[in-house]
Amino acid sequence: MSSSHSVSACPCHPQDMDRQPRSGWMRLLPWLRLYRCSSCNRMRLLSKQKVDNARLLHAAQVRARGG
Ligand SMILES: [Zn+2]
Repeated sequence: MSSSHSVSACPCHPQDMDRQPRSGWMRLLPWLRLYRCSSCNRMRLLSKQKVDNARLLHAAQVRARGG
């Protein structure tokens, strides 16, 4: 039996994502934005609304901790 070779999921958090400039084909997907994860350097397509929501939530949590 082969040892566990699971797809390692990077714990990517939207607040760690850097916006990337859009390339031409992305005009076909106007609701998506291209992001690069700053921890694993992987490119991801995420909906802007989802990322914005997660960022707001994260910011609120940081604020609540007094950070
Ligand atoms: Zn990542």
